Amino acid sequence: MRTPIVAGNWKMNKTVAEARELVSEIVPLMKEMTDVKVVLCPPAPALLPIAALLEGTQIRLGAQNMHWEASGAYTGELAPAMVAEFGRFVIIGHSERRAYFGETDETVNKKVHAAQATGLTPIVCVGETLEENEASQTSAVVSRQIKEGLKDVNADLIIAYEPIWAIGTGLAATGEMANETIKTIRAVLAELFGTAKAEEIRILYGGSVKGSNAAEFFSQSDIDGALVGGAALKADGFAEIAAAAQNEVTKK
Ligand code: PEP
Repeated sequence: MRTPIVAGNWKMNKTVAEARELVSEIVPLMKEMTDVKVVLCPPAPALLPIAALLEGTQIRLGAQNMHWEASGAYTGELAPAMVAEFGRFVIIGHSERRAYFGETDETVNKKVHAAQATGLTPIVCVGETLEENEASQTSAVVSRQIKEGLKDVNADLIIAYEPIWAIGTGLAATGEMANETIKTIRAVLAELFGTAKAEEIRILYGGSVKGSNAAEFFSQSDIDGALVGGAALKADGFAEIAAAAQNEVTKK
């Protein structure tokens, strides 16, 4: 069975002081969630202080982005080794990075290579726009993103399927719709890595997940957790999502 992952992407929110406060609220709420892997992806300045607060807990840290080069003249960027000092995960190719910062399947691929070479587990984001969805291009788009983004990498990764129209809009996909696309993604992963490996890869859903709809996603056959934006900024709301994942494991 694939252990579910509930990852919080805080985006460009929370100063270090605010981050500390949020983490101090999250930690006690997650104590019971022993069958769920909880990952926090705060802004970069909070990685070091939060790492200290998470010592001795089961909660893991990740970054929201990084460069593919090991070091050098890349003003404003984070090197893979800088992330790996504190985190075990890194979000790669989030749709906001693709839309606002020019990331492409090619740069995603470079970053996935660099993450794996540094011992980080990449959380690779894919997903279609509303126009692509309405033109029935979802499968084609996510298949291309997976094939191009994961060229010549290994299977030590996590995928987040995030339909762009569902991110931050309150308009989540239905569990069934998301599951269908995630099955397509798993089939492409099977082409790349073989069926056995593809069955082991966690594929998360992301897009307006909250406590009230989380169970609808987690009860689906192929959805292995969630990448959560807005609802990850409040301890209670985030814990409700993790509790829904925990509940699903307990049922199985
Ligand atoms: C995200 O940004 O990865 C995300 C899923 O955001 P939200 O949960 O706010 O839709």
